[in-house]
Amino acid sequence: MNIIDRTSYAVKHAEVYLPKEFHTAWDNPKLVRLMGNELTFSPSQEIRQAILSVTDKLNYYPEDIATNEKIREKIAEYVGKPMTSANITIGNGSIELIDLVYKTFLCPGDEVLVPTPEYSLYFKYPPLYGAKVIDVLPDKDDFNYSTESFLKLITDKTKLIVASNPNNPVGTLLSRDTVQRLCETEKLILIDEAYIEFSNTSLYDLISTYPNLIILRTLSKAIGLAGIRFGYCLANPEIIEYMNRVRLIMNSSVIAQAVAMVALNHRDYIQETIKKIIENRNYLNSELQNIPEFKVYPSHANYVLIGCAKTGITATEFFEKLLQRGYLIRRFAKSRGFPGDEHFRISIGTSDEMKGVIREIHSILQEKAVASISTV
Ligand code: PMP
Repeated sequence: MNIIDRTSYAVKHAEVYLPKEFHTAWDNPKLVRLMGNELTFSPSQEIRQAILSVTDKLNYYPEDIATNEKIREKIAEYVGKPMTSANITIGNGSIELIDLVYKTFLCPGDEVLVPTPEYSLYFKYPPLYGAKVIDVLPDKDDFNYSTESFLKLITDKTKLIVASNPNNPVGTLLSRDTVQRLCETEKLILIDEAYIEFSNTSLYDLISTYPNLIILRTLSKAIGLAGIRFGYCLANPEIIEYMNRVRLIMNSSVIAQAVAMVALNHRDYIQETIKKIIENRNYLNSELQNIPEFKVYPSHANYVLIGCAKTGITATEFFEKLLQRGYLIRRFAKSRGFPGDEHFRISIGTSDEMKGVIREIHSILQEKAVASISTV
C-alpha cells in the first residue's frame, strides 16, 4: 500500500524537524542550557501562583483569543499606544504565528525574501504552501543587510519579506529606515521582534502608517516563559481578521492565558531581567573580545555569535568540547548562510554561567595551544 501518494502537497514538501539540542538538554538536566536563547532564571513566585490558580479549571476548554478581549487588551497595554486589542492575535509560541502568516498569505508561485543567515523556521514552511524562499545575502561578511540588498531581489512574484529584528543568530538590527522603505514597496513585511526587549527599538508604531507591516513578539525570551508557548502578532485589524480565519481555535491553553495575564503585569520584574541579561551580555562580549582569534558580532539580543575560523578549532569541536564540560551551545556548521564550520552562538545566562563558559573556552584554547607545541 502506497501511503505517500495519498499525502497532501505540504507533506511532500516537508521533513520532520528534530531540534536535537533541546532533546540533549531535557535528557541531561545538569547541562547549562546556552543553546536556545531561553532565559536561564526560574519563573517568579507570581507565575507559579498563576498556574496554581487555574489547576482546578483544567477540565474546561479555554476561551478562544478572538473572544478573549481582556488578554488582548493586556498585551496592547504592554506594547504601548496606539496598539489596541483589535491589532492582536495569539499563537502557541511565535513559531505558530510564522506559519499562520504564511498560511494566511502564501499561494503557489509566491516568493518570500529572507535574509541569510536567519531563524531556520522561516525557510521551512513556505514550500508547504507552494512558495519559494529567496535568500537575501549580506553586503559583506559582517552579516549586515542594506535596503538595496532586499530591493534588488523584489519581483512581481514577491509576496512577503521576513526578517527577525534583532537578527537571530547574528544579533544585528535592521535600520528603521530600511524597514520603512521595504514597507513602501507595498509587499507584506513580517518583522519578528522575538528579542526586541533587549534592544528597545520596536517598530510597532509603524503599523498605523503601513497596513502591510506585521510584527511578531513572544513571551519566550525576555519574559522567560518559553515552556508556556505564547506568542502574539501585531498588525492592522484587517490582517488580524484574516489570520483569525485560518488560525486553529483554542490554540492557547488555560495555563498559557493565565500565565500571560500575570507575566505582562510585572513590568518591574521584566525590566530587571532585561538589565541583568544586558549586563551579562556586556561581560561575555568583552571577555570574548579579549580573545584575538575570535570574531565577535556585536549583539542587540540575548546571545552572541562568534566566528572561530582563526583558532584552528571548528565550531563543531567547540560545541563538543563545551558539551563535555557541561555547557550546551549552538553551532552553525554547513547550515544555510554558514557554509563552513566556523560559527557558534552562546545564549546569555546568569553571571555564573557566563563566567563558567568563558573559563571553559579558555581551557579549550589552552589545550589546543599545548597540542600545537607538542606537535612542533
Ligand atoms: N523567532 C525567532 C527569531 C526565534 O529565535 C525564535 C526561537 N528561538 C522564535 C521566533 C520562536 O519563539 P516562540 O518560542 O515564541 O515560538
